[in-house]
Amino acid sequence: MTRIINRINSALGDRVEENVILSPYTSFGIGGPARYFYVAKTTSGLVRAIRAARANDIRFFVLGGGSNILFDDAGFSGLVIKDNTDKFRINGGIVSALSGTIVDRLVDATVERGLGGMEYAAGIKGTIGGAVHGNAGAFGHAINEILESAVLLSDDDKIEVVDNDFFRFAYRSSRICQTGDTVLSVRLRLKSEDKRQLTEIVKDRRKFRRERHPVDMGSAGSVFKNIRSLENPDEVMPAGKLLEESGVRGMSIGDAAVFEKHCNIIVNLGEATSEDVKKLVEKMRNAVFDNFGIDLEREILYIEP
Ligand SMILES: Cc1cc2nc3c(=O)[nH]c(=O)nc-3n(C[C@H](O)[C@H](O)[C@H](O)COP(=O)(O)OP(=O)(O)OC[C@H]3O[C@@H](n4cnc5c(N)ncnc54)[C@H](O)[C@@H]3O)c2cc1C
Repeated sequence: MTRIINRINSALGDRVEENVILSPYTSFGIGGPARYFYVAKTTSGLVRAIRAARANDIRFFVLGGGSNILFDDAGFSGLVIKDNTDKFRINGGIVSALSGTIVDRLVDATVERGLGGMEYAAGIKGTIGGAVHGNAGAFGHAINEILESAVLLSDDDKIEVVDNDFFRFAYRSSRICQTGDTVLSVRLRLKSEDKRQLTEIVKDRRKFRRERHPVDMGSAGSVFKNIRSLENPDEVMPAGKLLEESGVRGMSIGDAAVFEKHCNIIVNLGEATSEDVKKLVEKMRNAVFDNFGIDLEREILYIEP
């Protein structure tokens, strides 16, 4: 019988690696080995890898910047496809970018041209594909405000162009969180704005992040989603405040600890395991439930081994 790896390689027309440790590919610095691992440098490589996994009945996971996920210590039993398709074009107010383009790079390039709409995202380390998946946002704005259309590889294996409505964007969510469609590229529409003002906003946002986010420790950003106030749906109750008032400051399990400057962030002090993080997440969630009767929803995605 032909080994699975040979069948994937021949379907892909390229070589996948085996047993690649995932922790260096994540901002948390956590995760065991991927049974198979492939770096897609082009969109056709990305499509071929997904099709090779499907043809061989192997689970696959499209990995962007790895900044919103927790891989398991046991790793991933299927094919991890690292999206390194990093290219974009700007034409007037239209930005066309491959899915693996780093959001922060797009922020710099668009602000440089006096285009407004992405400045809120300054400092977001992930890819534009990952940002669309989770409708990444900050400072009251999110990717859904500027996405005009995208090219997808659908869950039933078709390449199609879809518009903004298709995604049914909501707070930190989109339809593709359920369907498993893959974003191959995006088309964003931005507006001409004052370059100096945009540059100042970007500087401010990055300063804010440097001061309040872990700069030299592993993390995956906010652990929980903020919640809408029941009395006034326009009002947001920051999960960090609820956590702080529920006494999570100082909590830790193993090398996973609540970040001292922001109670909605868990940091990896060095050797944290996925088990440490999961236990700490439960402890934090229980603290808020016991104190406020609010069951917080997790924002970090757990990737099953
Ligand atoms: C310090 C820090 C600060 C952060 N601040 C913010 C913030 O202010 N706002 C915010 O929203 N997030 C924030 N995050 C979280 C994270 O950066 C964002 O959610 C980011 O958009 C995730 O993108 P990624 O490429 O890293 O996705 P990954 O973590 O690699 O993947 C996340 C999900 O997206 C899917 N995905 C990736 N690429 C594609 C694709 N091409 N097609 C379909 N699905 C895909 C993956 O399969 C996975 O399910 C922060 C994280 C850190 C570490």
